[in-house]
Amino acid sequence: MTNRFEDSAAFAAALDAKDPLKGLRARFYCKPGVIYMDGNSLGLCSKDAEACVLHALEVWKNDAINIWSAEESKYFLYPSYLGAKVASLIGAEPCEVTLTNSTTVNIHQCLATFYKPTPARYKILVDDLNFPTDSYAVASQLRLHGLEPDTALKVVKSPDGRRIDEDALIAAMTEDVALALLPSALYRSAQLLDMARLTAAAHARGVLIGWDLCHSIGVVPHALDACAPDFAVWCNYKYLNGGPGTVAGLYINRRHFAIAPGLAGWQGNKKETQFQLRDTHEPSPDADGWLTGTPPILSMAALEGALRITEEAGMPAIREKSLQLTAYLMYLIDERLTKYGFQVGNPREDAARGGHVALEHDEAWRICRALKDRGVIPDFREPNVVRLAPAPLYTSFSDVRRLVDILEDIAANRLYAQYDAARALVV
Ligand SMILES: *Cc1c(COP(=O)(O)O)cnc(C)c1O
Repeated sequence: MTNRFEDSAAFAAALDAKDPLKGLRARFYCKPGVIYMDGNSLGLCSKDAEACVLHALEVWKNDAINIWSAEESKYFLYPSYLGAKVASLIGAEPCEVTLTNSTTVNIHQCLATFYKPTPARYKILVDDLNFPTDSYAVASQLRLHGLEPDTALKVVKSPDGRRIDEDALIAAMTEDVALALLPSALYRSAQLLDMARLTAAAHARGVLIGWDLCHSIGVVPHALDACAPDFAVWCNYKYLNGGPGTVAGLYINRRHFAIAPGLAGWQGNKKETQFQLRDTHEPSPDADGWLTGTPPILSMAALEGALRITEEAGMPAIREKSLQLTAYLMYLIDERLTKYGFQVGNPREDAARGGHVALEHDEAWRICRALKDRGVIPDFREPNVVRLAPAPLYTSFSDVRRLVDILEDIAANRLYAQYDAARALVV
């Protein structure tokens, strides 16, 4: 793999010149001189997102309450209108996807719907490297059922703090496990789990399974139709650039459409009778049945604009560039940074690697601070990870090489030594 690349500015420029997605960068608000490596935490604002927000604002200004019927009721139907667009990115049927709430609330919604413990089958299976909100939600749902996480939460532990072993997950799918909630990509190490294999293994053992796609959606293609888990959740503000706190996604496999939503609300009622405001909830016979309250139109409008760019690029081209960007970054790390105590903590194989590079160093926190002072926006993740996400829609190969120049300067000259080791409130 390493022979594919060269460590020269001319080589990086040549990769940029050949990049079929290079034209999309101009659609984003990329600050001159800044190398943004945090698109897996909060994607950049685009001109498309801005235009859609301003348009929705205009409709509200002019039409007031009639915003709900404006433009063929687009905004009234926004969760499924935008949900259908996101469905095409993850290989799901449009009817199986809707947009609502936050990821955390959608996990609660799915557990409230699918987790029905019996004395024999009552455990929920998780791993110890998933983003903590997932296990917080699971633990609180167990308590709502009168169970304690000590006995009812089954945690598969990582052998090394980086990786989760798929065989260990499968071995943990025992007869007392009711449901598994797993991440498609680990937020720290970028490891991709084999969703098709694990979903099939869960179903063969009578275990329901849901996936958290937060760290893969928009950068790794998915085929939910083929893998057919019971549910999935994700946020739309990372690689999909939908804006801070925009609504999250929810996938409910169609075989479950007849199940009553665990958390019901009037927006989940059939559209035909929603405004009859009846006493009885009649859930929409698709993923929209799991909607709760009124959708936040202004923030969803940003997502509408952002999705146009992802749709134009197409998931195959996005994944191809992403793999090339991270491979190039790993090559440069190997060439220039390992001698300073840096280590690549993510899987190196294409099939097991998500969209970012987990660069490990004992001084990761102070190195992140030094990077920020030099125009690079990384993410620090405890305890020792400089998380670097070159976003395929707006990061260039020259950005990646410049990033490594800066990292080399910081490490070779110990420029991080002047920073305080105490963590800030938001890292
Ligand atoms: C980012 C992320 C979340 C965020 O949850 P919110 O409810 O949107 O704040 C949840 N799970 C994972 C795995 C994430 O990466």
